[in-house]
Amino acid sequence: MVAMIGDPHHDFPAELYRRNGHQMAETIPPHCPNGHRFGPGQVLVTWRPCLCTPGHTGHRSWRCQRCDEDLIWPACTRNSSIAHWDGARIHLAGPAS
Ligand SMILES: [Zn+2]
Ligand SMILES: [Zn+2]
Repeated sequence: MVAMIGDPHHDFPAELYRRNGHQMAETIPPHCPNGHRFGPGQVLVTWRPCLCTPGHTGHRSWRCQRCDEDLIWPACTRNSSIAHWDGARIHLAGPAS
């Protein structure tokens, strides 16, 4: 069973958390869109206000400190040029279709 928890600041889903002992830890993508591994001090977690998706007020954003590329969650329906992470896989930004 996965405990349901609330995020005090954002509408961040329980799927992106994992159990770490008795605490719930937020999961982060394993690496940036360019393959740089994310570790302590190598990723800046930010929030991008955006109203593209009903029910959400923005995107969780992970910025690589080596190449400055962002990964966001959930995918932005207004800007497909940003790579996104769905909690399991990284989806690289593609050309607008
Ligand atoms: Zn990078
Ligand atoms: Zn958006």
